[in-house]
Amino acid sequence: MELSRRSFVRSAAAVAAVSSLGNAAFASEAQQSQEPEEVFEYDLVIVGAGGSGLAAAVEAAETGASVVVLERMPYAGGGELGVEGIFGVNSNMQQAEGIHISAGEMVRAELAASQQRASGPAYVDLVHATGENINWLVEHGVTFEGVDADTGTSKLFHRFEGDAGAVGYVPAMEASALNAGAVFMYDTLVDELVQDTNGAVCGVLATDADGRCIQVNALKGVIVATGGFAEDFEMVAKNGFNIANCNYVGMKGHDGTSHRMCLAAGAQSIHDRTAYLAAMSVRDLPDFFHDGRFSFLIGVASPFAVWINENAERFTNEDFAASNVMLMTLPTRGNGDTNIVFDSVLMDIYTGGDEVALEQLQQGLDNGEIKQADSLEELALLMGVAATSLAATIERYNAYCEEGVDEDYGKPAELLIPVAQAPYYAVHITTDVQVSIGSIATNRNFQALDKENNPIEGLYVVGVEGAMLWANVYTMNIAGGCNANNVNSGRTAVRHALGRA
Ligand SMILES: Cc1cc2nc3c(=O)[nH]c(=O)nc-3n(C[C@H](O)[C@H](O)[C@H](O)COP(=O)(O)OP(=O)(O)OC[C@H]3O[C@@H](n4cnc5c(N)ncnc54)[C@H](O)[C@@H]3O)c2cc1C
Repeated sequence: MELSRRSFVRSAAAVAAVSSLGNAAFASEAQQSQEPEEVFEYDLVIVGAGGSGLAAAVEAAETGASVVVLERMPYAGGGELGVEGIFGVNSNMQQAEGIHISAGEMVRAELAASQQRASGPAYVDLVHATGENINWLVEHGVTFEGVDADTGTSKLFHRFEGDAGAVGYVPAMEASALNAGAVFMYDTLVDELVQDTNGAVCGVLATDADGRCIQVNALKGVIVATGGFAEDFEMVAKNGFNIANCNYVGMKGHDGTSHRMCLAAGAQSIHDRTAYLAAMSVRDLPDFFHDGRFSFLIGVASPFAVWINENAERFTNEDFAASNVMLMTLPTRGNGDTNIVFDSVLMDIYTGGDEVALEQLQQGLDNGEIKQADSLEELALLMGVAATSLAATIERYNAYCEEGVDEDYGKPAELLIPVAQAPYYAVHITTDVQVSIGSIATNRNFQALDKENNPIEGLYVVGVEGAMLWANVYTMNIAGGCNANNVNSGRTAVRHALGRA
């Protein structure tokens, strides 16, 4: 295997270190931007010890292949620590409960929800593999509360013990990988792929826990399982999010390094169609208000309130996210500002006289994220919008409420509640961007594709980083679909890399 001439400085140290492995071909052309102080060699190098990386590590190590998992954080889990569960069709758990799901109908619905932009073959592969994947997880000690419908309508969602991957998934999978002989190197940031003269990926460069540059050669492939780029503000902004209106962006350790390193190796970006796990919340207030009252689902995503942009315009039918909570960030994404406006009648319903909810309302009033006023003019002043525009918008809306017909956005009559009784409220809402889904184009084996759609030999991209199942919107109608893909893509990539596909 010969290393290619990339636009990096020649590294004499790299040549010396690799030579010591007795690999003359590596030594002949070694080029990298950094000088490794030590070189390792494994059959498979897995980058990231989260949901997909752990599945890949277990699958690979159990075949007897030598496997190393390089993880930038001091612990395993990544975003998977917060994952509630995983979708599956006809798993043993479902069969024991007599739950049968038609896979075809589900794929049809998903493709329709994505306006046919998601990959059909990727869905077909996934749904048919999920049952066996869940049985496999159970065999490896992953623990579940049971099967329920979560945000969907069918009993597809296999909920982890403790409602968290940190309890049900990560410890069992990390232990299984270790038992099977996988090596974990923590505090190790991978930021470069090493390629041979044909462009095949044959290793990585990383900074280890001691701050040393190391090279890890991969005889059978590198599996990038890095969990997306949602912590990279610039990339998130390119997908239309107004960063100033984001409460927080990304999970720690997901800063786009691996996206860029894959691009540097010639991979095709699908950044223009990235979907997001993202929601709306009120800044500096708990996501979930006490007793479920006034939570972001009830208070902020309220289909009863009037959603207002920075021009005091109503900009959508406020029940738009009823079918999928992930839709919430779409019409608001490009807004300069978003507030929901309602009156004391609705506020009383939200708070319900609950003491803690009222305390939280006060907290919002104190920190300025919730405004209260006795007139719409005063409210407009506090919101920083034109009073005449706000008055006109509310007057028009109230007329539709009286008629029971929303002639602008067609919101159903039962959701039309006038903004009529002082005090009036404006709740300033911001976006929480948690996970980017879809970053590098992949094929059915999760091989990274180049710009001409040819697989890049030796490079696999799995989990949310390589997901082709969503385009622009994470449909969420199959609850746990993302995580089903994490497990399936990790396992599939390993089988292909080891010639067992
Ligand atoms: C709070 C939360 C709840 C979720 N709930 C669900 C759910 O219930 N169902 C569902 O289907 N999906 C859910 N998701 C979405 C998705 O399944 C998770 O984001 C999941 O963790 C993605 O798995 P992954 O393997 O792609 O990435 P991760 O699990 O995030 O793992 C990536 C790992 O790679 C490491 N890493 C990143 N870059 C590098 C680098 N350059 N070098 C070395 N290491 C690196 C990271 O530190 C991390 O440990 C949820 C996500 C979040 C954040």
